[in-house]
Amino acid sequence: MTALAVSGCRICGGPVTEVLDLGRQPLSDAFLRPADLAGEFFYRLALGRCADCTMVQLVEEVPRERMFHHDYPYRSSLSSVMRAHFTGTGRELLATELTRPGAFCVELGCNDGVMLRTVAQAGVRHLGFEPSAGVAELARRQGVRVRTDFFEEKTAADVLVTDGPADVIYAANTICHLPYLDSVLRGARLLLAPGGVLVFEDPYLDDILARTAFDQIYDEHFYYFTAHSVRAAAARFGLELVDVRRLPVHGGEVRYTLAHAGARTPSPAVADLLRQERERGVTGVEALRRFAADVARNRAELVALLRSLKEEGRTVAAYGATAKSATVTNYCGLGPELISYVCDTTPAKQGRLTPGAHIPVRPPAAFADPYPDYAVLFAWNHAEEIMAKETGFRAAGGRWIHYVPTVRVR
Ligand SMILES: [Zn+2]
Repeated sequence: MTALAVSGCRICGGPVTEVLDLGRQPLSDAFLRPADLAGEFFYRLALGRCADCTMVQLVEEVPRERMFHHDYPYRSSLSSVMRAHFTGTGRELLATELTRPGAFCVELGCNDGVMLRTVAQAGVRHLGFEPSAGVAELARRQGVRVRTDFFEEKTAADVLVTDGPADVIYAANTICHLPYLDSVLRGARLLLAPGGVLVFEDPYLDDILARTAFDQIYDEHFYYFTAHSVRAAAARFGLELVDVRRLPVHGGEVRYTLAHAGARTPSPAVADLLRQERERGVTGVEALRRFAADVARNRAELVALLRSLKEEGRTVAAYGATAKSATVTNYCGLGPELISYVCDTTPAKQGRLTPGAHIPVRPPAAFADPYPDYAVLFAWNHAEEIMAKETGFRAAGGRWIHYVPTVRVR
């Protein structure tokens, strides 16, 4: 399976203008054993914008089976902040949308069951879709009912037959992963009850641009949504954007709520966010060109900083072997000669090499043994949690290197 060059907008078929080229990249979650190095998969990571519907999307598509395979390493519940976020989301859905007797909740990409277990524990009917068999098994151990599959039009039709219509279809950090969003929206329209809602939360393009968060761009994030582009996509498939809410997680996200067209009155928040996007120029091509210039500047500054620390004989490690760090290390050309190792809490990544850049991954305990002089904070979306946990590093004289929104040492 090789990457596919996308010829037009995946939503409307309109012309896509390329605005940022992040170069040759590996799969962001393909952590390697030394024996795997020869067969490593690469594709070209570049961002484009549809001139017709404004959807920002990748210009090459990685086959989904390559990304969301049995050993997909991401675990939603490893972060205490995210655990609290998803427990709160489950409680909120139970209180607002899953109130009728026999209510039914579907989640796309339920991962290890961190949200659905709250629904399951309340005794509410539910089904999680999770294509990665390894994490699906973890969700089952939480008492969550899981189908190891992708959600699309055909599988949605199956569920309608077996379980009936859904009151809620929920997805966190999943919808933007799915190039075949047209099929997902057709499936949602088919499966949703007349008064049902599709609720999904994903990184918000305005936050990515405002923070120069270029590492939010990687193989798994195919789409970069705004209220404008989500509203346009929904309308093509008989759905309507009826609510939006900005979320502080993962560097800035928006939770979008879609309903059947005409079924609900859109909240004032929708018109408000659309107006803000127009005022800030977020949906235009110029904002993306400015972003591309900012990204190139960040790369130059980060590389210069790491090279000068190397020349001074300082030790430099990194914290968080995140999917997003693959974009940084490969776009900036940072290998083990500049970053000696990266610490990560995910057991499946430890003892392996990072994709493309081949930096060794070590468990967090190795961070203090001994502390490096500097640590690049790749998991910047969990910065507060990590810096609170690693106070010993600062106490020992260590300094954090940030590169979002600008390169700085703290
Ligand atoms: Zn389009």
